Amino acid sequence: MNSKCSKCGCEVTGSFCENCGEPIPTFRNDYTQKITQALDNPKYGNMWISGLKLIAKVEFAIITIASFILGFIEMTQRGGSFLIGLLIIALGLALAFISVAVMMVFLNMAQDISEINSKLK
Ligand SMILES: [Zn+2]
Repeated sequence: MNSKCSKCGCEVTGSFCENCGEPIPTFRNDYTQKITQALDNPKYGNMWISGLKLIAKVEFAIITIASFILGFIEMTQRGGSFLIGLLIIALGLALAFISVAVMMVFLNMAQDISEINSKLK
């Protein structure tokens, strides 16, 4: 497919101008560029981060509730141990805190990176 370079007007056949090196927007390049722009957009970037924060909260709630239910079942069940029930709850809470803490560290890093990126522009 022959097209003209938008920078120097030369006829080009590839995806780059042989004369000045300007990339020629093909359909694929255009599409990739649009996705990159959307991800770079601070509005969409924040949407991503707040969405992931919501997931972290839901994850925390689910692990906490599940460990309480499992621990309670162990405590009340015939032949179940109160101590093991407590242990299940404690481990569940620890797991919930650790997983959310790790997720928050990554989210804060992602947020910092997107803030740095937006300041550099
Ligand atoms: Zn050119």
